[in-house]
Amino acid sequence: MSYNSIDKIIKKCDKQSISFAEAVILDDMYERKVSRDDTITQMGVMWDAMVNANATYNRKQFSKSGLVGSLGGIMEDYIGSDKSYCGPFVNDVMARALKMGESNACMKRIVAAPTAGACGVLPAVLTACYDHGQADREQIIDALFVAAGIGQIIAARAFIAGASGGCQAEIGAASAMAAGALVSLRGGTPTQIASAAAIALKNLLGLVCDPVGGLVEIPCVKRNVIGSVNALSAADMSLAGIISMIPFDQVVDAMREVGENMDVRFRETGLGGLAATPTAAEICKNLKTK
Ligand code: SF4
Repeated sequence: MSYNSIDKIIKKCDKQSISFAEAVILDDMYERKVSRDDTITQMGVMWDAMVNANATYNRKQFSKSGLVGSLGGIMEDYIGSDKSYCGPFVNDVMARALKMGESNACMKRIVAAPTAGACGVLPAVLTACYDHGQADREQIIDALFVAAGIGQIIAARAFIAGASGGCQAEIGAASAMAAGALVSLRGGTPTQIASAAAIALKNLLGLVCDPVGGLVEIPCVKRNVIGSVNALSAADMSLAGIISMIPFDQVVDAMREVGENMDVRFRETGLGGLAATPTAAEICKNLKTK
């Protein structure tokens, strides 16, 4: 895809009276010289892989390090609890995000959206919407194109790897993609989609990449939860009529500036942040003696 600005997508949508998803679909067809059927089918394959990854989660499986496993199951059992603040739907989204993050840590098949570390955010919100009867397959595929367009702009203007720009580039990007996708599912305008994506990314600006022991497990799995819940709140704000005062493209540029100036300790080296805590050192010592 060739978009490097959400402004360009919004202008194209206005000019041609098409949806955000349609603008991304047309661009993909043009760039890859494929038919509409091809591009829709390929996105359908991604969706099926997300659904399958969620369905095949094994609550008894732990990662090779033993650091993560069972969290998705624990959260799933909590759905419907009268202690819950977030309620059944959001708790379900949280469980799905944990499940996907753990499946990645267990080397199972996931969809990197945009990266493996942040693979739980987008599927968590979309599979929940689908399973709760809030969207059909066609709407979900459209929402995935919206997410893809947003991810493409972030990749083109900044980065989508923790090693390049910190966790803001992974969980932040995934959350922006999910927020835009959620607004599209509710029939939001391209401007509302852009606003939701901007709000979601702003909320995670500056987030460092600090995986304990260099493994994509702690804090990564749980950060997928915050990315998905942040996406829900950003989408709701935008649908309510709240706009991001800083436009999306400028938020991405700000993220790039923050990421470029981030000390190397906070860019997936496992040398700073949570990875440098005494508990992390203890965990790493135990991993070595295993
Ligand atoms: S902490 Fe780093 S490795 Fe983990 S999800 Fe965030 S960017 Fe990815």
